[in-house]
Amino acid sequence: AQNADQSRPVAKRLTVLSGPSGVGKSTVVAHLREVDPDVWLSVSVTTRAPRPGEREGVQYHFVTDEEFDRLIEEGELLEWACFAGNRYGTPRGPVQERLDSGVPVLLEIELQGARQVRESMSDALHVFLAPPSWEELVRRLTGRGTESDEVIQRRLEAAKVELAAEKEFDTTLVNTSVQEVCDELLALMTAPKV
Ligand code: 5GP
Repeated sequence: AQNADQSRPVAKRLTVLSGPSGVGKSTVVAHLREVDPDVWLSVSVTTRAPRPGEREGVQYHFVTDEEFDRLIEEGELLEWACFAGNRYGTPRGPVQERLDSGVPVLLEIELQGARQVRESMSDALHVFLAPPSWEELVRRLTGRGTESDEVIQRRLEAAKVELAAEKEFDTTLVNTSVQEVCDELLALMTAPKV
């Protein structure tokens, strides 16, 4: 069905925000949450341990390996992937509910998950968040101070792979300023569908 109110176009599609670890995806998402509460941000499940300051149900639902297995078996995940030694997935039900009621939905996920969404939801808009430079990405990843050298190394390896996949995306935003990226992302998300 078309929008009943043609004067106020509402995006009903799903937007996927992806890009290398450390590029600032979660900072952008946190900012978006403040500036536009109408956009619904999917809360993923993960087997990784919470970082200091992270709260259950806000950044993630933190689950055990057994719970994650169960979610896969019961088909409750829209997509899922292993990343740097942990598993991450998007609960299917809440996303579908929002899309069905016309609420713009944003998924912040890594590359393998983005590929699965491209396969299963042809309507989704795929946005790549790129760092201003490789040096800047290394600086951000090492400067976060929350991960061990080994974890940082794994994430840098993954980042090389992710950067090479930029061309798979519909559009790229360069993360020079959180405010600007947020504005651009919101404009993309709420643009009328073509
Ligand atoms: P972090 O451990 O830094 O919070 O997240 C690591 C990576 O996992 C990030 O690139 C993040 O975008 C990605 N990620 C978070 N949630 C999901 C999810 O539900 N599915 C997938 N495929 N990746 C996710």
